[in-house]
Amino acid sequence: MVAENEAVLRSPQPPDLLRLHEAIAGRLAIQGDWRRAYQHLRSALDIARDGSLRDALTSSYNRRYLDERLYGPFADRQAAHAPLGIALIDLDRFKSVNDTYGHLVGDRVLRRVADLLQEELPSGGFCARYGGEEFVLWLPGVEAGQAVRVVEAARLRVARHPWSELQPGLRVTISAGLAHEAPGSGEPVTTPERQLRSADTLLYAAKRAGRNKVAYRDAQSTQLMTHAE
Ligand code: GH3
Ligand code: MG
Ligand code: MG
Repeated sequence: MVAENEAVLRSPQPPDLLRLHEAIAGRLAIQGDWRRAYQHLRSALDIARDGSLRDALTSSYNRRYLDERLYGPFADRQAAHAPLGIALIDLDRFKSVNDTYGHLVGDRVLRRVADLLQEELPSGGFCARYGGEEFVLWLPGVEAGQAVRVVEAARLRVARHPWSELQPGLRVTISAGLAHEAPGSGEPVTTPERQLRSADTLLYAAKRAGRNKVAYRDAQSTQLMTHAE
């Protein structure tokens, strides 16, 4: 159900449009035009549903949407039939950004990081705010090497962004843990929920290795992708 409405969900609508559809539906109902009233109520419902699955601060998908993809009946089928990468991303030393520049700047940083993370996702991929200063990248249909490249490119976009234009002296980096699964690789395919837990473990490996890094585990090893700056 969620996937079918992907196109609708990708375009957040202003709440005024929701109220407009409601008001028109009310007028049409008074006039007895139930068919058109119903159409406007359906549009209002689509907008309200979209809003309920978006994060208010960053407009990326929210935890509710991610949970639907993780625990909904659709999740396991996707993992079983196509490769899937799940990356958990955490801003580095973000508390000190808030402490140094204030929470409003912190909020603007979160919004911009969300925008940068959402660039160049594979078809069907999405970014969701997992909570606080943590995001999930959902990367379906890509092989392991491509998933690593997507997350590594996101890390570099954040590291190279001209943050000092937002606030002199500001620097922002992210760390990421990436767990990839591919059916037919010989190993039993794990669930996206377990993949997220692996990504969490790998994220902490990236933090321990000094931050501003992507940690990825293939079948044999934990590989830390480091940056060349
Ligand atoms: P680490 O590199 O280990 O992740 O360090 P960190 O400082 O990023 O981690 P920590 O968990 O100590 O701090 C996370 C901070 O994120 C604390 C919290 O105030 C801030 N934060 C969480 N959500 C928001 C938000 O919506 N807006 C702002 N401005 N700050 C937020
Ligand atoms: Mg965190
Ligand atoms: Mg952090």
